[in-house]
Amino acid sequence: MPTIGTKPKIPLVNLQHLVDRVPGIVSVYNVHSGRYAFMNKSVKKVLGYDPAEFLQGGMELTASLIHPDDKALIDLKTRQSLEAANKTRPDTDGQAPIMSYEYRIRHAEGRWVWLHTEGSVYDRAADGTVDHVLNVCVEITKRKEAEEKLRALSTELEAGIKQHAERLHLALEASKMGTWEWNIETGELIWSPEMMVLYGLDPATDIISYEMFIGALHPSDRQKKQDILTDAVKTGEPYQVEHRCVWPDGSMHWILGQGQAYMKDGKPYRMVGTAMNIDERKATEAALQASQIAYETLYDSNVIGIFTRDKKGKIIAANDTFLNLIGYTKQDLQQGKIEQGTITPPEYDELDARKAREIIRKGEATPWEKEYLHKNGTRIPVLLGSVAIPNTDGLCITIVTDVTEREQLAALNKAKDEFISLASHQLRTPATAVKQYIGILTEQYFGDLNEQQLMTLKSAYESNERQLTIIDDLLKVARLDAGRLHLSCRRTDMKALLNNIIREQHMRFKARRQSIAMNTDAPKVFANIDRDRMYMVLGNIIDNAGKYTRPGKKIEVRLSKKRGLVQIEVEDQGVGIDKKDFGKLFQKFSRIDNPLSTAVGGTGLGLYWSKRVIDLHGGSIEVRSKVNAGTTFIIKIPATKNKARDMRSAITLK
Ligand code: ADP
Repeated sequence: MPTIGTKPKIPLVNLQHLVDRVPGIVSVYNVHSGRYAFMNKSVKKVLGYDPAEFLQGGMELTASLIHPDDKALIDLKTRQSLEAANKTRPDTDGQAPIMSYEYRIRHAEGRWVWLHTEGSVYDRAADGTVDHVLNVCVEITKRKEAEEKLRALSTELEAGIKQHAERLHLALEASKMGTWEWNIETGELIWSPEMMVLYGLDPATDIISYEMFIGALHPSDRQKKQDILTDAVKTGEPYQVEHRCVWPDGSMHWILGQGQAYMKDGKPYRMVGTAMNIDERKATEAALQASQIAYETLYDSNVIGIFTRDKKGKIIAANDTFLNLIGYTKQDLQQGKIEQGTITPPEYDELDARKAREIIRKGEATPWEKEYLHKNGTRIPVLLGSVAIPNTDGLCITIVTDVTEREQLAALNKAKDEFISLASHQLRTPATAVKQYIGILTEQYFGDLNEQQLMTLKSAYESNERQLTIIDDLLKVARLDAGRLHLSCRRTDMKALLNNIIREQHMRFKARRQSIAMNTDAPKVFANIDRDRMYMVLGNIIDNAGKYTRPGKKIEVRLSKKRGLVQIEVEDQGVGIDKKDFGKLFQKFSRIDNPLSTAVGGTGLGLYWSKRVIDLHGGSIEVRSKVNAGTTFIIKIPATKNKARDMRSAITLK
């Protein structure tokens, strides 16, 4: 049955017959009523609806089936096209389309179908305005899907390419690698941005040329690089070269260049390559070389013994110093005769094994002392330091210092201390006896003595006193050095202690017409000290103040408490001490020459011993002085709380 709607001017029967065979939808609709005058059967095939449904539902049905995203555009385009067609009256009506659109419309089964529709004027009303429009619609779903797929694919591809390029860029940047291409025929040179950076150029503004590139090569490497390029162009073989370049700022950089020329008809036409910055590698190589030289110099020097041993303890290399030390020769070494076992006394085996374990664990061992057995059987005391050589199968370098002299010195010192101690003891007994005898004589126990005899005895007594003081000093120091100084500390009233010392020495100061006094505002402070020792220390410093000050001058003792410390200052107006001698003051047997030193005599042991005792109390001693103006000794020792109970403690100097 032909499908006829509102009647158009041309009879549609013929049209119907013709267009029912067309695979697309052909329809005619009235633009005023919105009703279809005609619809061919293909609409069933394309959209799943009977033509009758459209003839009944009209444009309203069509509009309801159009995809919401396409509808507004179709409405607009239709309105505009009709308005335009109404204004003109071309003689192409029925042929040239006045509108053309692609849009989606819902199939009766619910899926979207893409249509390409072209509308042309079918007929016009008497006033010339468009009355009916002929629409021809072709399904383009497959094409649209293919287009969509293509679009998706190309987007994906684009993203992929972009990502790939970004990754490549990043990789190049990270590896500090640049790429280049050189058109041999035209001479055109193209550098990647990374390549520009490698030569200190700005990829955004600088433009590279072959001449510029040659100019940027380090003068010493220019010819070499050019020769290599010429050769590579000739042979087509890949090349690799390390060379330097000079940046526009004048700095020098190392480049590793690689490249290859490509041939066309046996002729080179193009060359491509990469470049990489190798500054770091070169710096490491240089440092390595320097350390190798340093090591070799050290190895060859005859200052220090060095040997290399394998993990089994076999000495595989050694310098002459070490070989001489143990009495072996290079030949012995080459014949593998030097093993740890043969040159080490057995009692050091355990220590050596411990050190070997330490080297494995930490790569090095803290220095240790041991002895080596000389080929002639004697023992040589040594100090060793050892490190593992990285990335080897347990190789290790040991540095050997001969400490024979130091040991001999220590032994000598010990013998000297023992001698002083012994001699002092031996001397003290007869000197004390002499003192007693002089005392008996002075007391006139064996009869009266005349003035002259008494004067002689007084001199003898004083000499004997001095001798005893010297012996006492020697004994004190000998005991200290032998580690036999035992402190017995008690909480002590420092003000009372100082007052006692001043009182005891008062007569001596008086004899020199010197005044001595303690600050009147001295606080009552306590310290945990060995009273007898500290009495001697402070007594010595106060005595020195008087000894090294001319008669008639003043000596001041100041006691105070500052930040938990008892501070005692002994200030004199004496001969003073030159700053350059401060360092010697507290050394053993160190007497410093001054205008009074010969007259007053002494051993140079007092301050040495005093400082050691003060140190032992956790305190300190300092000196401030100016030649001919006077000296101040400042002693600080930790204070104890005033109300604390009597504290007793013992410290032994070791
Ligand atoms: P001694 O007094 O027995 O020489 P000390 O160890 O007590 O030994 O002193 C070492 C040296 O320090 C003295 O020889 C002296 O030159 C110098 N000295 C010590 N106290 C004073 C002082 N108050 N003024 C100047 N010189 C001093």
